[in-house]
Amino acid sequence: MDEKLESVFWNIQQRNLGETEFIQAVKEVLTSLGPVLAKYPKIVEQKIIERICEPERQIIFRVPWQDDQGEVHINRGFRVQSNSALGPYKGGLRFHPTVNLSIIKFLGFEQTFKNALTGMPIGGGKGGSDFDPKGRSDNEVMRFCQSFMTELYRHLGEYTDVPAGDIGVGRREIGFLFGQYKRICNRYESGVLTGKGLSYGGALVRTEATGYGLVYFVREMLAARNESLEGKTCIVSGAGNVAIYAIEKAAELGGRVVACSDSCGVIFDEQGIDVKTLKQVKEVERLPIERYCKTRRHARYQAGGNIWEIKCDVALPCATQNELTGKDAAALLNNGCIVVAEGANMPTTPEGIERFVAAEIAYAPGKAANAGGVATSALEMQQNASRDAWSFEFTDKKLATIMKDIHDRCLETADEFGVPGNYALGANIAGFMGVADSMQALGLI
Ligand code: GLU
Repeated sequence: MDEKLESVFWNIQQRNLGETEFIQAVKEVLTSLGPVLAKYPKIVEQKIIERICEPERQIIFRVPWQDDQGEVHINRGFRVQSNSALGPYKGGLRFHPTVNLSIIKFLGFEQTFKNALTGMPIGGGKGGSDFDPKGRSDNEVMRFCQSFMTELYRHLGEYTDVPAGDIGVGRREIGFLFGQYKRICNRYESGVLTGKGLSYGGALVRTEATGYGLVYFVREMLAARNESLEGKTCIVSGAGNVAIYAIEKAAELGGRVVACSDSCGVIFDEQGIDVKTLKQVKEVERLPIERYCKTRRHARYQAGGNIWEIKCDVALPCATQNELTGKDAAALLNNGCIVVAEGANMPTTPEGIERFVAAEIAYAPGKAANAGGVATSALEMQQNASRDAWSFEFTDKKLATIMKDIHDRCLETADEFGVPGNYALGANIAGFMGVADSMQALGLI
């Protein structure tokens, strides 16, 4: 890390003690910024980095709710409004028992640069709760969402802060949240949430966007190396919304996706993961992926297995943060993997990233490769603002163009700063400069 940045980073560590994920995300970005400071000394003078690393606002609140038996539960709700230099705060809500302030802060921090990379007018933020929707009835989830929004609504607005989904928050939850917002505010403000259902202002392609966008990005990475997905063996960790649509698109473009996973284990399907069966298990029945093998009898399930030990050309981590360690990266490299693109946020540990970069394989960080989800959210906001609804094909084309533009910007920036092919550095610098430029223009904010 650059000498000037060492002391900045030290202060950030002292101010955010114990917030390991947040510190990890900050360190990863700061390590890339040395050459930027040398080129633009004003960034140092105006303390842009210190400002970006301090969220504009952090909201923590109590979320009381009752289960179907009448028992009272208390969860903790969060919304971290990281940066609004480029537009209203924008980023998902995560409902998962591991959620804490550090995780939401790291996600909001990453989101700020990701959103800048899309080139769309959206700032960065993130929120969520340590509520676990797993095993809860629809009514319990509804009561939780209503209680959550009863506090959150006052911090939102189509020009202020626009949440969406993330882990544990999909169409069902967005519906309950939107219903409660509308009821409390007495305003049909479609643009206050994205990822909505199609019957009340949602946009086509939003459901598929993160996974499809990831694979469009991979297509560009391979094209830059005169390769294509045709015949490539792929593995995709996770089995949620991002993983499902990454598998679907990778198969459509000729890839052979042989494995996916959930928190319990790994499935290996030599004939290629059958997306229809996977959707039935995960989206309709909401069951662990082990169930997949009941329909696809030839497929193998390994409880607690490690997906990164499976031989592949392309690896797409689409589960959660720090799921791919240095050891996993070594296993992938040993098995001849040539592309790693992150569908999840910060899924690769610093040791893993180091190995990929040293091996000079094509490695794309989440803030670039998974930006298709939030970019399509911005397209949903555009449609809401103009009371319009675009076709699937039209929106999908826009998504593909956005992903190609992000890809090219990362590579051009990496070239400009003397590290050709380094997507991680390109994404960090291009994302940072997008935010820094407008922060400089807006005065001391
Ligand atoms: N949670 C998604 C992300 O990590 C999407 C956010 C959004 O659509 O606002 O980018």
